[in-house]
Amino acid sequence: MGSNQEPEPQRSLKRITWQYENCLACVWFKPNDPLNADLFERGMCVHSKLKEFDLVVSGRDWCNLFTEVRQAQIDKIQEKASKA
Ligand code: SF4
Repeated sequence: MGSNQEPEPQRSLKRITWQYENCLACVWFKPNDPLNADLFERGMCVHSKLKEFDLVVSGRDWCNLFTEVRQAQIDKIQEKASKA
Protein backbone atom coordinates (compact mmCIF):
# COMPACT_ATOMS: atom_id res chain seq x y z
CA MET A 1 0.00 0.00 0.00
CA GLY A 2 1.50 3.36 -1.05
CA SER A 3 1.63 6.27 1.34
CA ASN A 4 -1.19 8.09 -0.52
CA GLN A 5 -3.49 5.13 0.06
CA GLU A 6 -2.97 4.94 3.84
CA PRO A 7 -5.81 6.03 6.09
CA GLU A 8 -5.37 9.57 7.49
CA PRO A 9 -4.54 8.51 11.11
CA GLN A 10 -1.50 6.53 9.92
CA ARG A 11 -0.28 9.37 7.69
CA SER A 12 -0.59 11.88 10.55
CA LEU A 13 1.16 9.53 12.97
CA LYS A 14 4.16 9.29 10.66
CA ARG A 15 4.42 13.06 10.42
CA ILE A 16 4.34 13.37 14.20
CA THR A 17 6.86 10.57 14.77
CA TRP A 18 9.35 11.77 12.20
CA GLN A 19 8.83 15.49 12.46
CA TYR A 20 12.01 17.40 11.93
CA GLU A 21 11.60 20.37 14.24
CA ASN A 22 12.09 18.60 17.56
CA CYS A 23 14.32 19.13 20.59
CA LEU A 24 17.15 17.03 19.16
CA ALA A 25 17.59 19.58 16.37
CA CYS A 26 17.00 22.62 18.61
CA VAL A 27 19.73 24.96 19.76
CA TRP A 28 18.17 25.10 23.27
CA PHE A 29 18.43 21.34 23.91
CA LYS A 30 21.28 20.27 26.19
CA PRO A 31 21.45 16.47 25.95
CA ASN A 32 22.77 14.43 28.89
CA ASP A 33 25.06 12.57 26.49
CA PRO A 34 25.99 14.86 23.57
CA LEU A 35 28.12 12.19 21.91
CA ASN A 36 25.32 9.62 21.57
CA ALA A 37 22.23 11.83 21.49
CA ASP A 38 19.33 10.55 19.41
CA LEU A 39 15.54 11.02 19.48
CA PHE A 40 15.31 9.13 22.78
CA GLU A 41 18.02 11.14 24.51
CA ARG A 42 16.94 13.21 27.49
CA GLY A 43 18.29 16.56 28.49
CA MET A 44 17.48 20.03 29.68
CA CYS A 45 15.73 22.78 27.76
CA VAL A 46 17.66 25.98 28.39
CA HIS A 47 15.53 28.44 26.42
CA SER A 48 15.35 31.68 28.42
CA LYS A 49 11.52 31.50 28.60
CA LEU A 50 11.49 27.84 29.73
CA LYS A 51 14.68 27.55 31.81
CA GLU A 52 12.94 28.48 35.06
CA PHE A 53 10.82 25.33 34.80
CA ASP A 54 13.86 22.98 34.76
CA LEU A 55 12.27 21.04 31.92
CA VAL A 56 13.64 17.61 31.13
CA VAL A 57 12.80 16.91 27.50
CA SER A 58 13.65 14.13 25.08
CA GLY A 59 15.02 14.46 21.57
CA ARG A 60 11.61 13.79 20.08
CA ASP A 61 9.77 16.47 22.09
CA TRP A 62 9.17 19.88 20.58
CA CYS A 63 7.59 23.27 21.11
CA ASN A 64 6.94 26.46 19.16
CA LEU A 65 10.16 28.06 20.45
CA PHE A 66 12.22 25.67 18.31
CA THR A 67 15.32 27.20 16.76
CA GLU A 68 17.42 24.98 14.54
CA VAL A 69 20.90 24.19 15.82
CA ARG A 70 23.76 24.59 13.34
CA GLN A 71 26.09 21.67 12.60
CA ALA A 72 29.07 23.78 13.74
CA GLN A 73 27.45 24.12 17.19
CA ILE A 74 26.83 20.36 17.40
CA ASP A 75 30.47 19.70 16.47
CA LYS A 76 31.66 22.13 19.16
CA ILE A 77 29.48 20.53 21.87
CA GLN A 78 30.60 17.03 20.89
CA GLU A 79 34.25 18.04 20.80
CA LYS A 80 33.96 19.49 24.32
CA ALA A 81 32.19 16.34 25.55
CA SER A 82 34.83 14.04 24.09
CA LYS A 83 37.53 15.87 26.06
CA ALA A 84 35.65 15.61 29.37
S1 SF4 B 1 11.31 22.46 24.46
FE1 SF4 B 1 11.27 23.88 22.69
S2 SF4 B 1 12.91 25.39 23.05
FE2 SF4 B 1 13.24 23.64 24.43
S3 SF4 B 1 14.70 22.32 23.36
FE3 SF4 B 1 12.63 21.59 22.86
S4 SF4 B 1 12.04 22.66 20.96
FE4 SF4 B 1 13.80 23.74 21.84
